[in-house]
Amino acid sequence: MSSKNQIFCDQLILGSGPGGSVVFDQLTSSGFAPMIIEEGKSADDKAFQDNPAKLTFKYYRNGGVSPILGSPIFPHGEARVLGGGSTINGGLMWRTPKNIKDEWHKPLKEVGINDNEIYKFFDDIDDYMKIKNQKVLSNFDLDSDKLLSGANKLSWNVVQARRAVQSCQRSNQCGAGCPSGAKRSMIKSCLDNGLKNGGTIKTQLRFEKLITSNSKVTEVICTDLSKSPYEKVSIMPSDIFLCAGTLETPKLLLRSKILKAESLRLGLHLNLRFLAKFPDKINADLGTMFTYQIQEFLDQGIIIMASNLRKMYLSTILSKLNTSHNQKILNNYPYLGLYTTTVRPSSYGGFFKLPFIDAFPYFYLNKEDLANLKFASIQSSRLLFAAGAEWVLLPFSKPQFATSFDEACNYINNADKNDFDFLSVHAMSSLPITNKKLMTNDGRLKGLTNLYISDGSLLPSTIGESPQQTIMAFSHYISERWINRHMA
Ligand SMILES: Cc1cc2nc3c(=O)[nH]c(=O)nc-3n(C[C@H](O)[C@H](O)[C@H](O)COP(=O)(O)OP(=O)(O)OC[C@H]3O[C@@H](n4cnc5c(N)ncnc54)[C@H](O)[C@@H]3O)c2cc1C
Repeated sequence: MSSKNQIFCDQLILGSGPGGSVVFDQLTSSGFAPMIIEEGKSADDKAFQDNPAKLTFKYYRNGGVSPILGSPIFPHGEARVLGGGSTINGGLMWRTPKNIKDEWHKPLKEVGINDNEIYKFFDDIDDYMKIKNQKVLSNFDLDSDKLLSGANKLSWNVVQARRAVQSCQRSNQCGAGCPSGAKRSMIKSCLDNGLKNGGTIKTQLRFEKLITSNSKVTEVICTDLSKSPYEKVSIMPSDIFLCAGTLETPKLLLRSKILKAESLRLGLHLNLRFLAKFPDKINADLGTMFTYQIQEFLDQGIIIMASNLRKMYLSTILSKLNTSHNQKILNNYPYLGLYTTTVRPSSYGGFFKLPFIDAFPYFYLNKEDLANLKFASIQSSRLLFAAGAEWVLLPFSKPQFATSFDEACNYINNADKNDFDFLSVHAMSSLPITNKKLMTNDGRLKGLTNLYISDGSLLPSTIGESPQQTIMAFSHYISERWINRHMA
């Protein structure tokens, strides 16, 4: 390898999602000069003024669909772009829900972490991410208004969505990247700040393997994807923050033979999608992703929201139906709303280490999870019919039209786990900081003196709510501990 492909640096951050970006910002603000590397490309607002299908293919890992082995097999969505998930997500920013804080208090204390040392960062994050209640405009987001009216009829708890979005232009493509620049991703916040404060960002550099010697990571072997043909690059850092996300962080540790598959797990939320037809035109495509969130079942790990509606987003549903049903849907397009119900399962999946093809994630539903999916589907149907829906298309592998709440209950109660059709976009807790066997309470991987984890992997469990702000608070905590030790 030529010397130009060998890089020596102090702090190296692997992955530029919310976890890695916070570390980058915090270290540079304290006078350090870290380097952050990212496999995906950099993207400005203009880059997102394109067809959402093309954008998904370009800025999501595996073109948008990474399968999770299970029964049923289902897709997981994960970013592969500068800023990680924050660049292509819904911009929802919730603090850790109270029931989860209560659940974590004891396990965190047992490993010597005072949870206030983590949650104290929420105010700062609100501030620099400019998190606000999503502004509600009249005659826009009528799909969300339907949820509000259904919730009010049922006297359910409904709140305005808290988002890192300013002056939203209602481009209706949040999940494919914001073309107006309204969403405040990590590119517009921590990464920009870190760059101004002397940090270095390298994109299109994929880390392949960590080399260890004498209880230290001594070298990170990477591939430079910007070169044709690709070139190998070797980085020799003093300290490493591994922030590749809940699935890629464990995969790298498995590839590098640092951990065994049995010591890792995989926490996921499952998203069910409901299509509802209303008697009046709601033109859901004239809106943003959501303006309200139903939190009636938050303590049970269930939240309900509207989603972006575009004809292309219906394609997975249409492909499972016959031509006359497709016509029924497309003819009613202005009357349709697409809704997502997110469910926190009680079980965890894991990783198979397969020879030659990297580690593969799996997740199998248990009986309790199936009961939860049914409960969540029944409550979502109750809400949509209370909001005035004429029919609701249920989230099954063979989608079923229900024209009343009773009919929906009948279909749902008779469904088997393989009948449900779901996907995930929230992964977390593959390497919980509360796992004393693997982690120290400052986020270092035991057995290695210079490898820290700082991403969604670290969360003590799944949380039943959008995880980005919680992940960022944990990353602040990891950075603060590291900075305090190195400035002392
Ligand atoms: C469609 C979608 C919508 C979502 N909506 C919301 C929402 O509204 N609110 C919310 O709170 N959460 C949301 N989430 C989840 C949220 O985005 C994630 O929880 C969060 O981004 C995780 O942060 P992270 O730093 O752990 O990992 P990531 O954001 O996944 O960042 C990891 C980064 O590391 C890079 N990387 C991985 N492996 C390598 C490698 N080998 N070499 C180089 N780089 C690598 C990746 O490309 C990625 O950029 C959503 C997610 C998706 C996919």
